[in-house]
Amino acid sequence: MKFRRRQQAAPEPQPVAPHANVIARFLTVSGAALANPEIAVVVEDRGDRRVDRYAYACAGCGGSYKSDAEGHLCELAQRHAKECTALPTPRP
Ligand SMILES: [Zn+2]
Repeated sequence: MKFRRRQQAAPEPQPVAPHANVIARFLTVSGAALANPEIAVVVEDRGDRRVDRYAYACAGCGGSYKSDAEGHLCELAQRHAKECTALPTPRP
């Protein structure tokens, strides 16, 4: 039996990933317990022209925080993730 190699088309241009601005993610207590990486605290770089350039949002409790200090914000995000036991509100 002969196998023929398929011609491969040129790759399509990829859209910008929805998480392109994410610079860090920290798994929450709930996310770890449920082995669900979506329940995390996500830190984003919102662009250097914005006040409070960095922001985090928690997918568990919905908490958020903003700051111009990246390192400080990442520390706060990690601390929040270590303590947050909230679960996202179920969707209908
Ligand atoms: Zn939280």
